[in-house]
Amino acid sequence: MEFFKDRVMCPRCEGAGNVYEVEIVELNKRFLICDETDCSWEAEDDVRADNWMYIFERLEKRYGVTYESVKFQNINYDWWKRR
Ligand SMILES: [Zn+2]
Repeated sequence: MEFFKDRVMCPRCEGAGNVYEVEIVELNKRFLICDETDCSWEAEDDVRADNWMYIFERLEKRYGVTYESVKFQNINYDWWKRR
């Protein structure tokens, strides 16, 4: 992972965005999302340019919920410190 000012740079948009962590209340699960392009990873995934999926797509295809129907909480950029 590459960093800029203590934040993980998104490997897909090459530094335009930073990757934050968020908890989705309804799923009781955490995800990693780029704040620029909305590409995402599972909380336990390696954050790479070849394994992302848009968050809305991930929620619909893998979890059967829509982006609009869920609540996001505990947004933070410090998730990498806990790995
Ligand atoms: Zn990005």
